[in-house]
Amino acid sequence: MEAIIEAVFGIKTTKIVPLSGYDNRNYCVYDAHQKWILKTYTDCSQRPILEAECEALDFLSQQADFTLQCPQPQRTATHDFVAEVVLDDKPQLIRLLSFVEGAFLGDCPPTRQSYTHLGIRLGELNQKLAKWTSPVIQARQWAWNMGSFTLIKPNINLLEQPAQRMVHYFIQHYEEVVVPQLSHLPKTTLYNDANEWNILCEQEEIIGMIDFGDLAYGPRIHDLAVAMVYAAYDKEDPLDWACLVLQGFHQVQALQPEEIKLLYHSMALRLCMSLCNSAVAKTTQPENTYATYSEKYALKMLNHWLACGPLGAEKAFLKAVGLKYKPPADTEQLLESRKRVLSDALSVSYQKPIPMNQAAFQYMYAADGSTFLDAYNNIPHVGHHHPVVVEAAQRQLAKLNTNTRYLYPELQTYAEALLAHFPKPLDKVFLVNSGSEASDLAIRIARSYTGQKSVVVMEHGYHGHTQTGIEISDYKFSHPKGMGQQAHIIKLPFPKSTDPLNTSIASAKNILAKQQEPAAAFISETILGCAGQVPLPEGYLQQLYPLLRQQGSLCIADEVQTGFGRLGDYFWAFEQQGVIPDLVVLGKPMGNGFPMGAVVTTSAIAERFAQGVEFFSSFGGNPVSCVVGKAVLEVLKEEQLPQNAQLTGEYFMAQLRNLQKEFSTIHEVRGQGLFLGVELRDPKGRPHTRLAQKIKNELREKHILISTDGPYDHILKSKPPLCFDKANVDQVIDRLYQSLKNTPF
Ligand code: PMP
Repeated sequence: MEAIIEAVFGIKTTKIVPLSGYDNRNYCVYDAHQKWILKTYTDCSQRPILEAECEALDFLSQQADFTLQCPQPQRTATHDFVAEVVLDDKPQLIRLLSFVEGAFLGDCPPTRQSYTHLGIRLGELNQKLAKWTSPVIQARQWAWNMGSFTLIKPNINLLEQPAQRMVHYFIQHYEEVVVPQLSHLPKTTLYNDANEWNILCEQEEIIGMIDFGDLAYGPRIHDLAVAMVYAAYDKEDPLDWACLVLQGFHQVQALQPEEIKLLYHSMALRLCMSLCNSAVAKTTQPENTYATYSEKYALKMLNHWLACGPLGAEKAFLKAVGLKYKPPADTEQLLESRKRVLSDALSVSYQKPIPMNQAAFQYMYAADGSTFLDAYNNIPHVGHHHPVVVEAAQRQLAKLNTNTRYLYPELQTYAEALLAHFPKPLDKVFLVNSGSEASDLAIRIARSYTGQKSVVVMEHGYHGHTQTGIEISDYKFSHPKGMGQQAHIIKLPFPKSTDPLNTSIASAKNILAKQQEPAAAFISETILGCAGQVPLPEGYLQQLYPLLRQQGSLCIADEVQTGFGRLGDYFWAFEQQGVIPDLVVLGKPMGNGFPMGAVVTTSAIAERFAQGVEFFSSFGGNPVSCVVGKAVLEVLKEEQLPQNAQLTGEYFMAQLRNLQKEFSTIHEVRGQGLFLGVELRDPKGRPHTRLAQKIKNELREKHILISTDGPYDHILKSKPPLCFDKANVDQVIDRLYQSLKNTPF
């Protein structure tokens, strides 16, 4: 080695010490005067890139007004920067760089000054590099270059959950938000690796930068985004640290608001690249711990980034550089324009309505930049804008969207996947577009099958907004403004969860026994959602179904709220009651927000129905909804979301019961999985509507979404996306506790 160094670079070494590195073997080399780094490369095809890097460093060393210390490449006897030699019997490339003294930023206590200075230094470096270009660097495509981020896409699948879904989401959004803007952004040669182990610091000043091996070409915000990520990812308040770097950079190079808008997604992309590249390194170099060093922090930061949201980050970034965030929507304006064209029959949640702008998984982002934790919405079942569902819809929407009068495989593929979740003999499905349409159709099928008209319903039940839906929904027809109960509706009393089973079953049996003619159908949920998450007593359906069937009625289970694994252990709520219905009504979570509904029934019932007039729905079963529905089922399985609903739900329930011990206003905590209700009563045992409303609105102020329901609107309800985790539960419990504690009766 000594002989090679002397022959190639004309330097007489006094000591050579090996160093650890990511890809290649490096050495610390000493001569009588100074210290060098010798870098070796077994891959000789890298020569043009190594030469370009050395040229960039040589260019920087010649800039008189540039004080940041960077490695200086030593020329060879032939005036090159890189030489090919034989080392360990192999042809290898070598180069020699001057050693830059200083402490790694990663080893210094983080201070506001050092991180602001990092931004300044990066801004200066970037400004210099803008004057140096290289076709080799411009053409460079590799997995650490944000410009070639598509290279990491095939590796997303190497990640475990929940990293995989987050990375998929952020890459999808980078493509949507940043890629269309790339051509308009100021571009430069990028240092592209401002991490804490490449930055040298002395007394809170950044004095040097090393390792220019990641040089790339692209928008200047990418260089900044990388630095902001590494400044932030190991800190408890990442946004603050990222803002310091941004402030420093902005002092040197004023950024446009359009560039600042893209920092959130650019930072996320760098984290995604880091995670994907670590995942690859784990398979190719399992012994290399250096390669996976940043994984833990990257994951933590992506989680934090989801909770922060793009608008919240943009607001903070703009503020950091003295600019003002302009919300994309204004509450008053929206309310006013809505009122002009929509009926007051449509209500808006909360005393202070929320203009929503975006959402991701269990978070919703309001126009003012604040993030709401969604502990309420059950329609985005696998999480708001789940990337797998979004991708499925986008692809199919661009390919074929037609109706069931044509043949396309997506229809039967989805039907098979859905029916695989049902017990025999439930083996036929009718696809429609909403829960209301599904319950309407289920009643129509039951009427055609039995030749009867009347329907047995539960007190406080709700099944939809169509004419039939309202007729069979006590929640609507018995409302003070409702149209009242029709003659063909038979209502069974509300089985209070504290009632002994015999009371409600006995009164139900009594009512049925008095009927002159059998009903066409009995429709019920297993846990009554609109009644305030009230479960049917154990064995209720097991006792009623045989009786109804004996009379000639069909039994319909409404799974619009409770289905698709929300209850954890039971994919369908009827399983909890140990029954198999004749018809099952599906909706809400089926398409994760894409309008879908279905009726599942037996071949015998479906065949009889087919003898009547044709059934056709223009949109029901269209190929886009089929692929969306299939994606939902796949995500549920892949991410084991029903299991998460079970575990998180148990934890949520236990925490709520702890609160109940402290607050006597909590009369009952009930439900299952992530379908929970908290009934509030005043000291006299009356429904405490006022308190429920107060808590709901206070939680809204604390950025948590829950709802209230039940006959007196006195039950707090939580039915969040199934990716809700224990930390989310803790947030809800904490805010709920504060709200209860501050409330005298
Ligand atoms: N059934 C139940 C139990 C429901 O909760 C709802 C909606 N809240 C429906 C049916 C009707 O579904 P949609 O609003 O999708 O028409």
